[in-house]
Amino acid sequence: MRVGWIGTGLMGEPMARRLLAAGHRLAVYNRTPSRTRKLVAAGAGAAGSVAEAVAGNEVVVTMVALPADVEQVFLGPGGVLAHAAPGSVVVDCSTSSPELARRLAEQGAERDVAVLDAPVSGGPAGAEAGTLSIMAGGDAEAYARVRPLLAAVAATVVHHGPPGSGQLAKLVNQTLVAGATLAVCEAYALAHRVGLDPELVRESTRVGVAGSPLFDFLWTRLAAGDLEPGFKLDHFIKDLALVREAAGESPLPGVGLVTELAERARAGRGGGRGTQALVTAIMERAR
Ligand code: NAP
Repeated sequence: MRVGWIGTGLMGEPMARRLLAAGHRLAVYNRTPSRTRKLVAAGAGAAGSVAEAVAGNEVVVTMVALPADVEQVFLGPGGVLAHAAPGSVVVDCSTSSPELARRLAEQGAERDVAVLDAPVSGGPAGAEAGTLSIMAGGDAEAYARVRPLLAAVAATVVHHGPPGSGQLAKLVNQTLVAGATLAVCEAYALAHRVGLDPELVRESTRVGVAGSPLFDFLWTRLAAGDLEPGFKLDHFIKDLALVREAAGESPLPGVGLVTELAERARAGRGGGRGTQALVTAIMERAR
């Protein structure tokens, strides 16, 4: 397929690389152009603008950051919907607002462009290995057309229903991620406090009932004192806000607590660190 790819960050870059490896032809655009260098060296075409990435392509994939960024990339001047070819499919893989996903699908339909929401789970390692899980929403016929493309980056692709339902499924996933991230960071703080060797704890825990890919990923980084992001605090806090919005009046006490800790971990140190930095807020609270 001829694909326009927008957003080559921690997730977008390895996802785009898998599509290239699967034989698709890509035109890649990133706001900071230097971040497309590796993909261009691997055979992708360089697009100098969103319009250039979109023009003439049968499929466009966006992988940006916050709902405001998605809105800007789709609806801003020179945005995706102004340039997408009639009959094309645009797939937003960012974790974004279900309400925005519905609005983009409606505005796309007015121009004969199908807009699907297709957020992902699995982190940069899953993107590199092509083992992501994709939660899709939107027009079923358009979904069927791009499913083979999505399967090049994912082990599992599920269509949840109408526009916005992929984002809703991802927010359910992020509710689980919130609880699991808190659990791993809290357990790490305890292991540290009682003087256990984190590597030995990892060895005995990972194969038991409490083991998980998220445990492995976060614990390994914590044990190495590495707070670089696989998943940025800024994006975690964005997801938690979307979860609370989706829940409306229904209380989600765990999500409230994780939000408070994540905001404390971000305060004064920026949101570019990884979610494992939650441990700093837990340890500071203990002091
Ligand atoms: P990232 O490394 O920060 O990359 C974000 C990308 O979006 C960058 O290429 C950035 O361009 C671009 N961008 C941001 N705002 C933009 C704007 N207004 N206009 C144009 N481009 C813009 O983030 P990421 O970790 O890849 O995450 C991307 C999305 O996937 C987020 O919605 C995140 O919540 C979700 N997600 C992340 C993970 C994970 O583990 N990392 C897992 C699942 C889902 P620049 O290079 O110019 O900044």
